[in-house]
Amino acid sequence: MNNLPIPTGAYQEMCYLVWSSEKKALIFDPGSDAEIIFQALEEQGLEVAAYVLTHTHYDHINALADLYDKAPAPILVHSKDWEWAFSERNQGAPYYPLPRKPETDDIQWLETSKDWNIADLHFQVLETPGHTPGGCCLLFPEDNVMITGDTLFKGSCGRTDLPGGNPRIMKDSLNKLKQLPDEIQIFPGHGEDSTIGIERATNFFMQ
Ligand SMILES: [Zn+2]
Ligand SMILES: [Zn+2]
Repeated sequence: MNNLPIPTGAYQEMCYLVWSSEKKALIFDPGSDAEIIFQALEEQGLEVAAYVLTHTHYDHINALADLYDKAPAPILVHSKDWEWAFSERNQGAPYYPLPRKPETDDIQWLETSKDWNIADLHFQVLETPGHTPGGCCLLFPEDNVMITGDTLFKGSCGRTDLPGGNPRIMKDSLNKLKQLPDEIQIFPGHGEDSTIGIERATNFFMQ
């Protein structure tokens, strides 16, 4: 699989374009800059197969409606995050306005019990609440790759003091990630990639 990281926005939130030989991309967390993402899709000759949201904080979904308008595709998200994604509380002035809601009913729910096969890509859902109530990590088991959103960062983890955050639940989620094999490479919502092995050994929040 191909995985192209694209930093966008004031918080340098990471968007990941993932695709196989089919040239249809999963867009993980569209971030805040539709133009940069469109440019990358064009350069790589990719269509959009689906939008996948690790969580719905404003910095990670600000470009979603703009992308959806030009390239409609199913939106995959946990129901417990979608329910507040476009409410007043989800904005970060002065850098981010309230995200605009895409005009679609094509929303599909991420949940642990359901594996996904899209565009010749296979991934599993790990529900990892704590940073937000519906936060998820998406694991590509055949490729040892996991998109972790704001649950697990290199050397850190996501905040739990924002609305809907919960430090005790976050600990349970990080414990779940700790059970995974060392070799899994993680791609977080901010900052550089790492591996489960490195984080288990060096990340204070994984102790
Ligand atoms: Zn977040
Ligand atoms: Zn974030």
